[in-house]
Amino acid sequence: MHQDLINCKLCLRLTKWCQTVAKEKRAAYTGETYWGRPVPSFGDSKARILIVGLAPGAHGANRTGRMFTGDRSGDWLFGALHSVDLASQPTSVSRNDGLKLNDTYITAVVHCAPPDNKPTIEERDRCLPYLVQELEELRNVRVIVALGSFAWDGTLLALNQLELTTKPKPKFGHGVETMIGPYHLIGSYHPSQQNTFTGKLTKPMLRSIFERAKTISSTAGSRRPSRSSLAPRA
Ligand code: SF4
Repeated sequence: MHQDLINCKLCLRLTKWCQTVAKEKRAAYTGETYWGRPVPSFGDSKARILIVGLAPGAHGANRTGRMFTGDRSGDWLFGALHSVDLASQPTSVSRNDGLKLNDTYITAVVHCAPPDNKPTIEERDRCLPYLVQELEELRNVRVIVALGSFAWDGTLLALNQLELTTKPKPKFGHGVETMIGPYHLIGSYHPSQQNTFTGKLTKPMLRSIFERAKTISSTAGSRRPSRSSLAPRA
């Protein structure tokens, strides 16, 4: 799946944007070769905790080629994960920095960096089959942490494609929890600068989300039967 994803060009606008950012670069990174393509997920393939983000950052994951790697959002995320022993180190600066995730896997609803961090609904829907496929393949996942309302909605849609629904649709909020099929879904504010600079999200708030995810994952029940994998739509 990773190789298919890395070569995916279904979204023309995003493909061009990733390449343009990679070519023009930010002044601080002029000496670096940007990844400039769809960013694959990463982590422990036997993970019980799945973290779903929005999309790669233009000068973070789109530069380094690894989710939440090389930007401030990643500093917050991996700082929190390390504080509860879900990551081997509190920093994530490059694909080769030795970081290992423990019982945790990180993906995003959209795998290409979007302008202004805002994918369109059509781009989200085009990329969603990758998340559906991951949910199918990561057989041990019990807890899903959605970072932000876009990830929350995308996760609900992906679960819906696996015929897992709950009514009424649960509303996103920080610390909101809901059960959908075998999954325990937890909402968290996204560790974007928009939230961290304003104090909407603090380090203790983010840490408590992963403490909770760890606690639930260690006691959650078994998974549903497998279903055939879905391929991305053109
Ligand atoms: S956003 Fe997803 S579907 Fe669109 S080009 Fe990137 S990887 Fe492909």
